[in-house]
Amino acid sequence: MRVTTVFNRVLALPGASVESVSFTDQGVVLGLRRRRRLLVCPCGRKQRGRYDTSRRRWRHLDFGACQVWLEADIHRIDCRGCGRVRTEELPWARPGARHSRDFEDVIAWPAQRMDKTSVSRLMRCSWEAVDRIVGRVVVEHVDDARLEDVYRIGVDEISYKRGHKYLTVVADHDTRKVIWVQEGRDKEAFEKFFDTLGDERSEQVEAITMDGSGIYRPVAEGRAPQAEICMDPFHVIKWVNEAVDRARTAQAAEALIPSAQWRSTRAALRKGAENLTDKQRDIINQLRRTRYRLWRAWELKEEFRDVYRVIDPDEARTYLKSWCTRALRSRIPSMRNLVQRIRNHFDAIIAAIELGLSNSLLEGINSKIRVIQRRGYGHSPESLSTMIYLCLSGITITLPTER
Ligand SMILES: [Zn+2]
Repeated sequence: MRVTTVFNRVLALPGASVESVSFTDQGVVLGLRRRRRLLVCPCGRKQRGRYDTSRRRWRHLDFGACQVWLEADIHRIDCRGCGRVRTEELPWARPGARHSRDFEDVIAWPAQRMDKTSVSRLMRCSWEAVDRIVGRVVVEHVDDARLEDVYRIGVDEISYKRGHKYLTVVADHDTRKVIWVQEGRDKEAFEKFFDTLGDERSEQVEAITMDGSGIYRPVAEGRAPQAEICMDPFHVIKWVNEAVDRARTAQAAEALIPSAQWRSTRAALRKGAENLTDKQRDIINQLRRTRYRLWRAWELKEEFRDVYRVIDPDEARTYLKSWCTRALRSRIPSMRNLVQRIRNHFDAIIAAIELGLSNSLLEGINSKIRVIQRRGYGHSPESLSTMIYLCLSGITITLPTER
């Protein structure tokens, strides 16, 4: 059997056959002959005439420990469709690539799972090459289709560079995938999401979950006014806990309880009633006798939690209204401030309960992004965004061995 036949059988390259094999210092160089005559522009237009020609090499998957290179002519075409000179598209490599499609896929698959430095050592190519390949694979996979049929979304900020920089991340509650990453955590970043989504698709959005920070809310109200804004329950409970903390601090100065025990009241007050230890329950009971208003703040917190735990979602609105009245009557200053805050976000809090939505999807995505950051993604926000798309936007890489 001829050596070219062996390589043809083993490699089975799309659209080309091996016509020469030479062993060089770099490894095996395989000269390719393409099967089709027509040249294909990236725009899809096919034509026969070429503008000019050069010779290019693409790194292909190793043959054992031996590096393999594909070599072929690549033409530029004066495309009438594009109205300019463009480099033709080839079946075995992505546009602009110096690696074959198979090689790039074998890079991208582990890059979803391990750090780029390990991938570069495993595949014997530079870290920068891994970075560029990941970028090309993401560009190919992340298309507009992810923005079709988007109905329930969540938005959140994530920090990087030790909290000095931020990205805005938008995820789809139904697919549980990241659909948008943008540098910055401001109105503009979220505006850009709606710009890309376009008016028609923005009108389809039914619900948007977010935390209480208030950056994204005006944008959501302006660009998708029909969508229900849903306030993340976790953040609302945080406000309630803070109000109890402040009630406790207000009483600290005149505390009659021995100081060691006073310190342990904080944890007891924060805990849900169902999780209290015997000792903590004693503390709460003692507060009821000696510090009635602080105990009342704790009780109001527990009653508030019920809105997420035991109250029928249909009755949440009525329940929360009467809770606000009771909290005002308690005459506890921090609780009165809390009521003001709750009332400002009333509809968003209720919408989250009625629709059964929270921002926990974004919290989960956030912790996965932390893992990507710890693996080392590069230095630029673009590199981090690209890695987020590669790992969390639902890209499925098919390995050459799986085709
Ligand atoms: Zn073209």
